Amino acid sequence: MNNQNPEVTREGITERLVCKADDPATVEEIVHAGFNADSHSGGLAFVSDRRLSIFAYGGSLDYSVDPGNRDDRVAAIEGFWRRQQYKNRPLALADVSDYHRAAIAALEADAAGIDELPAQDRYGVTDIALGNYVYVLLRRRAAEPTADSALRALAADDSLLNLGENDRPPYPCHPCPVCGRLAIGRVWQYLSVCEDCYDKSICENGRPVAGYNESWLGTGFKAVHLDDRSTCEQTTREGRVWIDGIECAIGEAKFGGVYIGVEDTPASSPYGE
Ligand SMILES: [Zn+2]
Ligand SMILES: [Zn+2]
Repeated sequence: MNNQNPEVTREGITERLVCKADDPATVEEIVHAGFNADSHSGGLAFVSDRRLSIFAYGGSLDYSVDPGNRDDRVAAIEGFWRRQQYKNRPLALADVSDYHRAAIAALEADAAGIDELPAQDRYGVTDIALGNYVYVLLRRRAAEPTADSALRALAADDSLLNLGENDRPPYPCHPCPVCGRLAIGRVWQYLSVCEDCYDKSICENGRPVAGYNESWLGTGFKAVHLDDRSTCEQTTREGRVWIDGIECAIGEAKFGGVYIGVEDTPASSPYGE
């Protein structure tokens, strides 16, 4: 997961940048021996056109305006390197809060919610809504449903790691309107489906579809068939998809992104409206 950049090699990146650059002659590697040799948190850095691109072997990347001189380029690479080292630091169960430990136990048990865990596995959790919120986010971020994977995801994400007792979850969790697992969020009158269901949408003709934002600003909405990347006119026009036979609304979310949800009825609303 989050591996946007599976092949971070000198040849692969050079080829990609040469292909994309307005002026291919400007593509140049910025060598930093320590950063290049660190297979854990290091990577490769290049300039092309007037941009400095830094790629971590682990998959993250960073673009900025090329400062144009060796010292400032090295400073940018070292700043990136330190952030990667921080995100890759080892984290143990003892380093995280009761809420995170309970969320990890739920992840490993594939529990429907924190409240399903035996009492000793949710020790210290007094706010079940917050515990469930941490659990849903962790399920989204962890590559595998294991403690190791969850701790790696937490190390890389301070905002999730620092969620604690004094925070109110920004959204209460609700049962996914399709499968009943925990889900987060509501867009207009639609309760969002869970992460698992989100990836299972099909159009009127039974073809798998995904929505995306038309502009690079994250606005507009279009749906494509996943089999041949052709536009699905029906979904784009009508904003309807089906997940496990249940009709769902799909469209542009309020602040960009794409929501998929089912209309919230007052009787089922966890939002108290
Ligand atoms: Zn679901
Ligand atoms: Zn279609």
